Amino acid sequence: MDYRRLLDAAAAAALATAGQGRVADYIPALAAADPEAFGMAVATVDGELYGVGDWERPFSIQSVSKLFSLALALAHGGDALWRGVGREPSGNPFNSLVQLETEHGIPRNPFINAGALVVTDRLQSLTGDASGAVREFLRRESGNPLLDTDPVVAASEAEHGHRNAALAHFIASHGNLENPVETVLDHYYAHCAIAASCRDLVLAGSFLARYGVRTDGTRLMSRSEAKRVNAVLLTCGTYDAAGDFAFRVGLPGKSGVGGGILAILPGRAAVCAWGPRLDQAGNSVAAVTALDTLTTLSGCSIF
Ligand code: GLU
Repeated sequence: MDYRRLLDAAAAAALATAGQGRVADYIPALAAADPEAFGMAVATVDGELYGVGDWERPFSIQSVSKLFSLALALAHGGDALWRGVGREPSGNPFNSLVQLETEHGIPRNPFINAGALVVTDRLQSLTGDASGAVREFLRRESGNPLLDTDPVVAASEAEHGHRNAALAHFIASHGNLENPVETVLDHYYAHCAIAASCRDLVLAGSFLARYGVRTDGTRLMSRSEAKRVNAVLLTCGTYDAAGDFAFRVGLPGKSGVGGGILAILPGRAAVCAWGPRLDQAGNSVAAVTALDTLTTLSGCSIF
């Protein structure tokens, strides 16, 4: 596949969305992002790397980190995770409280905030340092030792984190957290506040394109587990617009309110696009458009 040409076409389509959507501002530190930035990168399973625009510029990865916390919790702890979190789309906003009550503190899936808090909790039990585990994985896979949590963003999340704190306390009241609420929240904010570029994220996410095999050829998880992570990404990875994302892009992917989307072409490549302006659902307008263009022009989706 001619990724260089595809990236240029995707970038042109993304730039044509200029002005559409709004930069997230509910975490004040995120509002400082450059609204017109755009970058995109591809890392193939054979180790080729391509990029366009601001593909090496770090941004706040936010919920894209949930892909990595889930993968690491499964790699370290296996199927036990699924006793504490489901795997059905929620159909509700990412920070919604409503379903938790009827579902007895078992969040619907690992990618809504409630589910990600449970995943972070289990990863904390398994590793003793949940956010450190995510950070180290990203550093090792990307080969970027400078990749780190942005302390200003993490502090801003904590300061404005009433809803996440409410979710965590509610889950704890149902006995579904193993660690203190404050510990879980701190690690959750710390992994969401990691700053990384499209380049870093495609390299770190490429294990899913290799069906569980890391960049150094060693296995992080079984082929079956990688299939499962990709399946949950497809059905739950892009807020309550996962249906529309599958319709337009046709790939498993995880978005974040920092404007990044990391998507997987199983057996071929990891692709990441970034633009800070978000649509109503919280997905980047430019990134969805770019990924839509890439799969439409190449005919290369999972369908
Ligand atoms: N840390 C953010 C929050 O909990 C993540 C938001 C997101 O990217 O979905 O609100």
